[in-house]
Amino acid sequence: MAIHRGEDQESGGGMTTDIRRGWTSASNAASDALCPGRHRAQLGIPETRSADADSGRAIHEALKTGDTSKLTVEQRDVHDSCKDIEQKVVAAVFGDKASVAVFREQRYWCKIAAPGQPVLEHSGQADVVYRSGTKALAIDYKTLQGDVEDSPTNLQLRDLACLVKGHYVVVGQVATAIIQPLVTHSPEVCMYETDDLKIAEAEVFQRVAFSNSADAPRRAGELQCKFCLAKSKCPQYIAWVGAMIPTGPQEPVIKELVFQTAMESWSPSQRAIVASVLSPAAKALDEIKDFLKDGLQKDPSFVPGWSLSEGRKTEKINDPQACFDRFSAIGGKLPDFMATVSVGKTKLKEAVHNVTGSVGKKLDSELSKLTEGIVDSATSSPSLVKAKEEK
Ligand code: SF4
Repeated sequence: MAIHRGEDQESGGGMTTDIRRGWTSASNAASDALCPGRHRAQLGIPETRSADADSGRAIHEALKTGDTSKLTVEQRDVHDSCKDIEQKVVAAVFGDKASVAVFREQRYWCKIAAPGQPVLEHSGQADVVYRSGTKALAIDYKTLQGDVEDSPTNLQLRDLACLVKGHYVVVGQVATAIIQPLVTHSPEVCMYETDDLKIAEAEVFQRVAFSNSADAPRRAGELQCKFCLAKSKCPQYIAWVGAMIPTGPQEPVIKELVFQTAMESWSPSQRAIVASVLSPAAKALDEIKDFLKDGLQKDPSFVPGWSLSEGRKTEKINDPQACFDRFSAIGGKLPDFMATVSVGKTKLKEAVHNVTGSVGKKLDSELSKLTEGIVDSATSSPSLVKAKEEK
């Protein structure tokens, strides 16, 4: 097999296009290694975007362009930390070398050709690559919290190291680092020497070839299935999920009849069977979770290999008046302060009652008049409930 220099960047041509052009990508390296059938299973299924992803995209964009004007204060903090950490990493890799070229958000492509086989392509986008002489550094920013493997074991960065090496032919050493300020300000830097890159390259080729083969097996699991777009069409996924769902006395029937078929292929009666076990199954799983958490609280060795994370701390200002006085003292104006305040209708109703003494419908009417035209309403997603049987 051979690696060839490919194009630098894809162009959207004014329309949203698959930037990976239907080929495998470094960002899926770990998941594709765990489930070789994943790449082909997802072909043609459109991607969805989350609010978290949008926030990450905004920070990435600012890191690329240097324009931070559209970021929130929180996003700006993450952006600035990424920059600070990046400087430290660059200094650690290149020392005081004066000329280091920088390439931001460039997609690197390679072609993989085996004798008698169709040519395959593979790509990966590095958030930033630095290069000086025969040495390069590939950096990936992670702007959220959450577990990411360190760079020595991170397959995405390993792929990127190979792609960067293939692109800049003179490069013989590629360092990689993950910059994730919400986790650490001292990331580990992994240096791939020429021989390491050869080994990594052979493994990338093998994995990509397997992912493109029509008979690549699907192997379900937490990491590879989490963001897989093919979940609802995948029998292996539902069989894996089904094995973990407690379904009560009908278990063998349900597991055989329902959890051997991809969700999208369920018949109406199979859907009804699954709906009927969801609530008791969720309750049973919650009970199991509570049992394990309780055990770990009393004895840290209760569940080998597992521990309790620190609870998420939330804070609330309990004296808005004092806060406003202090805001005012530093030059803040009332409209700017009010923009940070939200008023809960339950507590407001209580306050109106304390002022007017009204109750019942009269109080409701007073509250309605008070809030008319100034309420934003939102409806949570509907719950799954059993329809009433007709008599
Ligand atoms: S849902 Fe899971 S098992 Fe199915 S193709 Fe995707 S990663 Fe593989």
